[in-house]
Amino acid sequence: HYTRKARQAVQIYHADLDVNSVERLSLINDLKKAISCGQLEVFYQPKINLQSNEVTHVEALVRWQHPKLGMVPPDNFIYIAEQTGQINALTQWVFSTALAQYKSWCALGITLNIAVNISAENLKDPDFYAFVCQALTSYQVPAEKITLEVTESAVVDDPEAAIALLSKFKGQGMRISIDDYGTGYSSLAQLKQLPVHELKIDKSFVQKLKDDEDDQIIVRSTIELAHNMGLSVVAEGIEDDYAKCWLAEHKCELGQGYFISRPKPALELTSWLQEQKIIAGEKEVL
Ligand code: C2E
Ligand code: MG
Ligand code: MG
Ligand code: MG
Repeated sequence: HYTRKARQAVQIYHADLDVNSVERLSLINDLKKAISCGQLEVFYQPKINLQSNEVTHVEALVRWQHPKLGMVPPDNFIYIAEQTGQINALTQWVFSTALAQYKSWCALGITLNIAVNISAENLKDPDFYAFVCQALTSYQVPAEKITLEVTESAVVDDPEAAIALLSKFKGQGMRISIDDYGTGYSSLAQLKQLPVHELKIDKSFVQKLKDDEDDQIIVRSTIELAHNMGLSVVAEGIEDDYAKCWLAEHKCELGQGYFISRPKPALELTSWLQEQKIIAGEKEVL
């Protein structure tokens, strides 16, 4: 049985690649080799402080360089990893890679908070918490510099267990963010109980801010709700200057989107960051 998100992903997957089940089976087998053969790569997309334009955070987004299919986007293979028991190894690999990248940036004098996406399956993995703590210790990365992005649907699966585990991560000092906020099934009662710092407004509400008054109402109310609950807000899917300015005016703290930067390989993002000088006021981000 699929989770709702996985079911959506199946539809996207079929529509995009028009694969039959034989090809799907081969993708499942290929994925098993992908991690060990070094076919996965992490791209990084910056998040800026919308008031100062300073780059303060990045999100780690996995990519799969398939030897025959080329670049396979995460929406086409994360659900396979989730269904075939490979998501724990995948997340651990992404997490370690992101910590190593954090260190490389530190060595260049660039300090960024790095966000890693966490699946529902990870929250059920009894070894996950110990893995994360161990990795932070061995890479010597302060917990405060890591954000865990968790979707509402990941929490809905088993709310009590998820809340307990997220509280432990929060206790360590990590930031917890609710990803794709507004698209899941969680209630406000549940949101109240969640040990989170931040809501990340889904891009479907942000992309059309310029022309869609309903989206403006939804985003404005969400920012207000978050602030009233003591949470900060990130908007993803900023695709034009209008959305960026509108969100800044409406006191949204952080922004992420193609208008600022697409996700890039670490080296490319490093050059981009050095061009921005990442220091508020010294140079405009855009
Ligand atoms: P997400 O966590 O909501 O990440 C944001 C997605 O929105 C990324 O897609 C990003 O490239 C895209 N995006 C950002 N700004 C814009 C914009 O302005 N316009 C548009 N159209 N898109 C924008 P991506 O990299 O394809 O990742 C898709 C999803 O795959 C992620 O959504 C996340 O749910 C999942 N994912 C990616 N990497 C990982 C990972 O390491 N582990 C897990 N469990 N899931 C991951
Ligand atoms: Mg995310
Ligand atoms: Mg998101
Ligand atoms: Mg999303």
